[in-house]
Amino acid sequence: MFVSAHADSVFAEDVDTTVTYKEGTYYGAGITDDARGLAAMLSIVRAFTTNKLSIKGKIIFGATVGEEGVGDLRGVKAFFDQHTEVDGFISIDAVSPTEIIYLGTGSYRYEVTISGPGGHSFGAFGTPSAIHVAAKAAAKLTEYDVTDVPKTTFNIGSIQGGTSPTAIAEFARMTIDLRSNGNLQLQAIDDYLHQALATAINEESMRAPLGKLTYTVTKIGDRPVGTQSTDAPIVHVAEMATKSLDLTPKLAGPASTDANHPIHIGVPALTLGAGGEAGAAHTLNEWYRPTNSYLGPQRVLYTILGLVGTHETESLLPRRLAK
Ligand SMILES: [Zn+2]
Repeated sequence: MFVSAHADSVFAEDVDTTVTYKEGTYYGAGITDDARGLAAMLSIVRAFTTNKLSIKGKIIFGATVGEEGVGDLRGVKAFFDQHTEVDGFISIDAVSPTEIIYLGTGSYRYEVTISGPGGHSFGAFGTPSAIHVAAKAAAKLTEYDVTDVPKTTFNIGSIQGGTSPTAIAEFARMTIDLRSNGNLQLQAIDDYLHQALATAINEESMRAPLGKLTYTVTKIGDRPVGTQSTDAPIVHVAEMATKSLDLTPKLAGPASTDANHPIHIGVPALTLGAGGEAGAAHTLNEWYRPTNSYLGPQRVLYTILGLVGTHETESLLPRRLAK
């Protein structure tokens, strides 16, 4: 199995990540997300080496890149592309030692560009407008009937284009975010968006036939939906590991983490917390307080041992047939 924390953060390269310490709390950009996860992972590696724990299966420890935002999970995707035999995954992220993240919210992000011939608003009336297409497509998307369960959402995050009120717009650009906790629902709204764009182009071309419109749809984000049963062995093992620390396990709602990708391709995967307390993630005021922080790595360690098996216990993770 593969155990990892992510090495990237949401911050740009030039952001000062110096850590300051004040009254029991550490402050620093990325201190928890996911520096704490990386530290927890290293403490688990140390537990293995200093105690010479003997296990049945094989564990690969590593750090991924591209977990945040536009990174699109490219690190964990590349890992599983190259390691088709790996049969389980745990991402150490956030801090809760009781929550078990076993579902992944899927998202697609797009940049849509529309181009047309342009012209004088009065003299060239009848020439199709890139902005009219964007407005029509946007209106259609906002009329989409989303499902509450599984939660499905859309957002047109930005629209740009055109030059002045008296010029038929030659160019328009929109960025769009589609999300769902259900794979079918994500595919359905994705199909709808593509259809809405094609229809908007058609309608505007029919209304204003003097010239040709073109458009491009570029996928700039792709996080697959990850669904697993609450009865999956990996979920049970994490629950037992939590209980063995006298804590009450809690199945968390879907999140967007490195675990999305393996769950999506059928590899049992979870995201588990690194222990301690934290806040203000993804801001420059991010903080971390190591209150009972050992509970995070301990629970992950117990979960791993249950999954790969020890000299005294069987492996509880179903074997994956390498492709
Ligand atoms: Zn994170």
